[in-house]
Amino acid sequence: MAKMYYEKDCDISYLDGKKIAIIGYGSQGHAHALNLKDSGCDVCVGLRQGSKNWANAEKAGLQVKTIEEAAQWGDIVMILINDEVQADVYKKSIAPYMTEGKALAFAHGFNIRYQQIVPPKGVDVFMAAPKGPGHTVRSTYVNGKGVPCLVAVEQNATGDAYKIALAYIVGIGGARAGVMETTFHDETETDLFGEQAVLCGGVVELMKCGFETLVEAGYEPENAYFECIHEMKLIIDLINKGGVAAMNYSISDTAEFGEYVSGPRVLPYEETKKNMKAVLNDIQDGTFAGRWIAENKSFGRTFFNSKRAQLAKHQMEIVGEELRRNMIWGGDKDLDTASN
Ligand code: NAD
Ligand code: MG
Ligand code: MG
Ligand code: MG
Ligand code: MG
Ligand code: MG
Repeated sequence: MAKMYYEKDCDISYLDGKKIAIIGYGSQGHAHALNLKDSGCDVCVGLRQGSKNWANAEKAGLQVKTIEEAAQWGDIVMILINDEVQADVYKKSIAPYMTEGKALAFAHGFNIRYQQIVPPKGVDVFMAAPKGPGHTVRSTYVNGKGVPCLVAVEQNATGDAYKIALAYIVGIGGARAGVMETTFHDETETDLFGEQAVLCGGVVELMKCGFETLVEAGYEPENAYFECIHEMKLIIDLINKGGVAAMNYSISDTAEFGEYVSGPRVLPYEETKKNMKAVLNDIQDGTFAGRWIAENKSFGRTFFNSKRAQLAKHQMEIVGEELRRNMIWGGDKDLDTASN
């Protein structure tokens, strides 16, 4: 069983007198910075000179510095910029200031696991990884709750790295929900696998295939959107609350019978498992990481950008946008802050 921690097992006083520099003000960055500030911590945000987020962060009451100044100022330096640019930014603007006794922190282990960042021996290296989007990390905190987090320590130079990491997770609200201990190795590999095979890769392909099947058979695209895409969230909410049993309880017996009869037809068990194992294998042996690094460094993101453009033109996206605009619960305005 994985080791779990809750607020009673953590001590936020390990952050007393510590300055926390949050590098980046995107999805996770704005949530960590604002939650820590509201928890009474001494926080600053480190941004590129001229970043559009500079004014946003200041308007939210945060002090803002350049990345170099923030890295120099902070005792804890949390890197919350895109994984694929972290190594270059770290080498140029953060590494020179990682003096003995400081802590370097991450919300995902990619750059440590694949040795893109190699911190000096004298610093603590920890992970505080919320298992949810940054905007949820903020909204749950504001509502007195939190998003569950993973904690991991790669280097414990001071001997207090775990205590500091858990205190940090109290500060962002995660300990209210629960903290699971893991390693950079396991977090990186399971996170990449989950998002590729199931959550993002798997779900999008499944919805796209379902949508296209109905539309090609002559049904209205709006109907296809509701059945194969819109309802996904309602179903997942039930599973999230009470497992598959809660979903089965809430859906009709006809739907449950169809689940047993047709689920294995669209996702043939043996073949799907074999393909998932191949995806996991590419993550474990570094093939996926190498491909993603090369896509950024050598290929100018041509594959990534063409896929993104292609998806934006897909009928399910166009129909969905139109429908959501007309639904009173549609249009999640708090998702607008995520880039500069
Ligand atoms: P994001 O894309 O929302 O924000 C990244 C920020 O970094 C943006 O403000 C961007 O302008 C800035 N940035 C990009 N390139 C930069 C550069 N060269 N120099 C300086 N700043 C630059 O990113 P995010 O989703 O918040 O991810 C941050 C970290 O959190 C990543 O390690 C990610 O894996 C991890 N994480 C994300 C989520 C999530 O749901 N979004 C969940 C858990 C962990
Ligand atoms: Mg994840
Ligand atoms: Mg991820
Ligand atoms: Mg239905
Ligand atoms: Mg039922
Ligand atoms: Mg993003």
